Amino acid sequence: MHTSPPAAAFRRPDLHCHSVFSDGTQTPEALADMARSNGVDLWALTDHDTVDGIALARAAAREAGIAFLSGVEISVSLMNETVHIVGLGVDENHPGLLTGLAHIRHDRLARAQRMADGLAEAGIPGAFDGAMQYVRNPDLVSRAHFARWLVAQGVCRHTQEVFGRYLTPGKPGYVPHVWATLQDALGWIADSGGIAVLAHPGRYRYDALQREQLHEQFTALGGQAVEVVTGSHRSSDVAFYARVAQERGLLASHGSDFHDPHESKIHLGQCPDMPEGLTPVWTRLQERIQRPALH
Ligand code: AMP
Ligand code: MN
Ligand code: MN
Ligand code: MN
Repeated sequence: MHTSPPAAAFRRPDLHCHSVFSDGTQTPEALADMARSNGVDLWALTDHDTVDGIALARAAAREAGIAFLSGVEISVSLMNETVHIVGLGVDENHPGLLTGLAHIRHDRLARAQRMADGLAEAGIPGAFDGAMQYVRNPDLVSRAHFARWLVAQGVCRHTQEVFGRYLTPGKPGYVPHVWATLQDALGWIADSGGIAVLAHPGRYRYDALQREQLHEQFTALGGQAVEVVTGSHRSSDVAFYARVAQERGLLASHGSDFHDPHESKIHLGQCPDMPEGLTPVWTRLQERIQRPALH
């Protein structure tokens, strides 16, 4: 006789990564294999502004015998900064979510053209066609695709250097862009049955007051979780956001933000463990988790 698995059974979750459906270099199937080899026992695919890879990821996770949560990482504009909100456990067929995501993807192509214009003025022609060679879905051309092309051209040694020299505010290939509002993003996630997670909060260039405002607005609009452990957090960030989670009663999430074996510092499933004393986000997503078949 089968019994239900215990609620708090996941020891190595990875709830943030990217596939070729956005700006990762791996297929969902390859990610599922990687997750299994690295001992991941709960995996979520969280492509930027699309859920098109979820059906393949779901099937691959079932095949690999790994528990799976649907996910998406939504680009938001707030206080002159781009903030990323991960939605976990969303219904990937929800019409409101799909319409909202299509809307924010829409302007990416025009932005990419303007990025290429800026790079051409800086003496680097051909960047639009170059970046597009790395893109599977033209709606989802990202700065990461430009970075890959610039590295392949020998303009920079690695993607970090490309961002520092060309793709961040004030640099020739950077184009300011208006994404979704925080309110819309949180609305789409809640309406489609998911939980909203404030992604890699240590990365935003906010001062202390703006950071408080971000946390205030996020929780006031229904946000419930924060990434405490993620590929771009130093141990001081982990400690800081563990405290934020406790003080604000937020659930804690855990994900590498893996994109590519060569580019990403932290591979799938290889983030440090979550600090003690936090409530993992997946404890509130039990009914959304696709569990592997019991044999
Ligand atoms: P976009 O959505 O087009 O603005 O591109 C954002 C993506 O660029 C992020 O999701 C990362 O994949 C990548 N990215 C942003 N900043 C950096 C950085 N400093 N180094 C490497 N990759 C970065
Ligand atoms: Mn990315
Ligand atoms: Mn992000
Ligand atoms: Mn990400």
